[in-house]
Amino acid sequence: PAFPEPAYIAGLNEPQRDAVLTTEGPVLVLAGAGTGKTAALTARLAHLIATRKAWPSEILAVTFTNKAAREMRERVGRIMGAGAEGGVEGLPWLGTFHSVAAKMLRRHAELVGLQSNFTILDTDDQLRLLKQLIVAADLDEKRWPARQLAGLIDRWKNRGWVPADVDAGESEAYANGRGAELYAAYQARLKAVNACDFGDLLLHMLVILKTHRDVLEGYQQRFRYIMVDEYQDTNSSQYLWLRLLAQARKNICCVGDDDQSIYSWRGAEVANILRFEHDFPGAKTIRLEQNYRSTPHILAAASEVIANNGQRLGKTLWTALEAGEKINVVGVWDGPEEARRVGDEIDAHRRNGGSYDDVAILVRAQHQTREFEDRFIAIGLPYRIVGGFRFYERAEIRDALAYLRAVHQPADDLAFERIVNTPKRGLGDKAVANIHLLARAEGIPLMLAAARLCDTDELTGAARKSLGRLVGDIARWRDLSNSLAHPELCRQILDESGYTAMLQADRSTESAGRLENLTELARAMEEYETLGAFLEHVSLVMDNEGNDGGAKVTIMTVHAAKGLEFDTVFLVGWEEGLFPSQRALDEGGTKSLEEERRLAYVAITRARRRCVIIHAANRRIYGQWTSSIPSRFVGELPDEHIEAETTMSGGESLWRAQWSERADPFAHLERGTGRGPGWQRAAALGEPAARSGHGGRILEVKASAASYAAKPRSDVAIGQ
Ligand code: ATP
Ligand code: MG
Repeated sequence: PAFPEPAYIAGLNEPQRDAVLTTEGPVLVLAGAGTGKTAALTARLAHLIATRKAWPSEILAVTFTNKAAREMRERVGRIMGAGAEGGVEGLPWLGTFHSVAAKMLRRHAELVGLQSNFTILDTDDQLRLLKQLIVAADLDEKRWPARQLAGLIDRWKNRGWVPADVDAGESEAYANGRGAELYAAYQARLKAVNACDFGDLLLHMLVILKTHRDVLEGYQQRFRYIMVDEYQDTNSSQYLWLRLLAQARKNICCVGDDDQSIYSWRGAEVANILRFEHDFPGAKTIRLEQNYRSTPHILAAASEVIANNGQRLGKTLWTALEAGEKINVVGVWDGPEEARRVGDEIDAHRRNGGSYDDVAILVRAQHQTREFEDRFIAIGLPYRIVGGFRFYERAEIRDALAYLRAVHQPADDLAFERIVNTPKRGLGDKAVANIHLLARAEGIPLMLAAARLCDTDELTGAARKSLGRLVGDIARWRDLSNSLAHPELCRQILDESGYTAMLQADRSTESAGRLENLTELARAMEEYETLGAFLEHVSLVMDNEGNDGGAKVTIMTVHAAKGLEFDTVFLVGWEEGLFPSQRALDEGGTKSLEEERRLAYVAITRARRRCVIIHAANRRIYGQWTSSIPSRFVGELPDEHIEAETTMSGGESLWRAQWSERADPFAHLERGTGRGPGWQRAAALGEPAARSGHGGRILEVKASAASYAAKPRSDVAIGQ
């Protein structure tokens, strides 16, 4: 080319470049783990801005987690230099589906009967509200749990269904056909308290885009380019939303990997990949085949495990990296030993000059983290837990947030309910019931009802006095919020409400920690310009991590690790009933098992250089010791790429026999024939790269393209 290529393009391979430079029209990048999909998407974003094809504010980029959005923002920032952010061009709409939809919905809230300062409920609030409705509907909450209803409503919302769309058959799933009715009541109640739940963010926007042409056309014009990462995990409602926004200009680029679809339990539909080519005729499909992340042993092992899945599109993957270490498969006696082993290895890694930041421990289930936390605290090994709402889920934090929400948004009934008698202010159940009664009768927020009640004789003198003080305080804090910095406001509210004093008076061992948490909360608020922005952040935040800057080992679920990579990865608890989960086993059938296997594929492919897989022979479950057998996924790891070891004397032959092909306990399960002679050849990783023309050691893993419709088979071949 006549012009030197910009740096963000120069390092890309041919198909990646194609994905970046094909800016017009629909593009689908379909490729395996670590092939640089996210890297290409980031370069594309930079390219669009650098070549002035669009102002940043005319680009919509959707990522799967807030962390991913942050990383992409940083990557683009690095590529573009300082000029990328701020200024008249604005910022790209870059974030998760939820955060982008929330931003949109705040602009159009009135079109669905909300005010722009609506509250986003978390699960806890949601369940409390549902419980009230279930009781009001004369149903037995024990028989028809709120959780079940919440799950159904979530499912319907993920499909883009408003209450009227729920047919009798679906409705049947709850309280003998009253599901849809309760869904409708729930939506009405949310509207009344000016709130919405996570599913609503997209659902409401979907309704608005469908019913208000002007709004739809506005966004269709605005977003010249739309990009989506981790496309395989979009649900129907997200898909419909994207399709509407992209329908006019059709400049949409989605990247994904069908083998990494791990959210079907949350309504994700891999079929969206197939629908893409149908809904956007003429879409260009680009496949990336070179993996830049993992060593051949890791890549080969992951590829062979996933080859056991039937439902695959199939792909080719190869790497030019040095062979490196084999995957280390370790059998230990029990959970505590597993934690000790991981702790020891990390210590050794550190002593050899490695950083804690290079290491991740991936668990299948959230509860598995505790064992590692306990151990790491004991030996002083710094760690962070990523994924989940841990910090903001703590009771004292939720109380404090309820105060802030009540101050920020007087109609936030759930917040008011939470704080009205916390700390105890001598309000009996009767007084609280009276507030509810009046609020319902008048159709007004609880806070207003409380204020009115204070002017009547309905309450006892003492109740009237303390309620009056609370209502007065909240009004005063609201006034203060205009002049006082919000972290300071938070401290003041906690002091003046008596909340701090309540904790100080509490002699339990936790109370000191709780006070520290509240201090930390005020500290966290400093990063946000307004109270509203902070509250928005809290409701959207998906991952929190201690940010004192020091290097830390990361502990997270495999789900949360999607899209990330680490030098060293410990995959723990690879036992039947844990991974694959008991739930998947109970459900039977290949569908849930294949999703678990995709999860295993995601887990292994997070590792760059070192992957350690651990299984324990004994676990404590609900206080009972039970013996466990290694995961079938351990059995699917190719011998040539693993180094097996057990810390149990004489145990190795035992547990290996459990899943070796000679005595395969899962022989009844259909498995791929990927263990062909090709894998023997893979052991001799020095074969030259005949096909690709790259020098060095090349391992090639090939899966034949099989469609979801036809019963597929995968083939694996090494460096032909
Ligand atoms: P996943 O499926 O896990 O999300 P991905 O396809 O998005 O993976 P990336 O995270 O974009 O892959 O890239 C994996 C690694 O490969 C990263 O460390 C990235 O910097 C590196 N990489 C990507 N493209 C190239 C390239 N052309 N040359 C060198 N390294 C690259
Ligand atoms: Mg990625």
